[in-house]
Amino acid sequence: MRTLGRERYVNELSPAHPAAYEIEEGETVVVQTNDCHGGVVTREGVLPPNPPPANPATGPIEVKGAQPGEALAVTIHEVKPADWGFIGGGGEGERFTVVDLSDGIATYPWGLQLPVKPIIGVIGLAPPEGSVPNNTPSDWGGNLDTVDICAGATIYLPVAVPGGMLALGDVHALQGDGECCGTGIECAAEVTLTARRVKAPLLQSVYLVRGEQLMVLAHGDTLDEAAWGAVDVMAGLLSRLTGLTDTEARRLLSTAGDIRISQIVNPKKTCRAVIPRRAIPEHWPFA
Ligand code: CA
Ligand code: CA
Repeated sequence: MRTLGRERYVNELSPAHPAAYEIEEGETVVVQTNDCHGGVVTREGVLPPNPPPANPATGPIEVKGAQPGEALAVTIHEVKPADWGFIGGGGEGERFTVVDLSDGIATYPWGLQLPVKPIIGVIGLAPPEGSVPNNTPSDWGGNLDTVDICAGATIYLPVAVPGGMLALGDVHALQGDGECCGTGIECAAEVTLTARRVKAPLLQSVYLVRGEQLMVLAHGDTLDEAAWGAVDVMAGLLSRLTGLTDTEARRLLSTAGDIRISQIVNPKKTCRAVIPRRAIPEHWPFA
């Protein structure tokens, strides 16, 4: 299995960046990712002056053959955190909370131990034009900070440029819904993934399958906007999949699905609408 090194990264999703790596469709690779500050935070939890831009994302990774209008289905097999990480916004003079991560256990400075549940904070493809900074979520992906983007999940990202140009980073060893202090347990990591082409994607925005749950992501300037955006996208999808009217689809989502907060701290907020397979058993759009 090839390893794609963390030394090649981008600070934004953009069609302007040439591929750092090329992979075949269906190839499984290990992607090394930097922590959100590019590895410069000290073990004492100090951010040195003039740090590099936050959230470097390894890539861009060109997936050979991927074409605009398709999606890339990125299946995450494993997210392996480094042996330590840190929490905190890192304001001037502020120390991060340093957390030991050995043996899959997060040990907080006061002794609390919790098992890690690593997630990928930043993952996305190049937009058709312009750029998506790595601190921001978008319909092309980006700083999604969604706890379901973890081992065992498949994330679907719309392809806008040939090869898709995948980039990822900002792994959190632990994060809760909301990410309310602005960070998870930030850490470097190694992500094992496979990317496949989907020629007729369900949506031209980000969606995700984790176990028996289908999720759509939406973003907005406010939580209300993000939440209602997720409702609208999921209702439209349910209606298309099942033949239910828009009203019936909204009534199904209201009773059998969930609207969950992903993050409330980025320049745009992210919510996700979740529908379980049991709510649409005859119309589940996956094998
Ligand atoms: Ca993030
Ligand atoms: Ca982060």
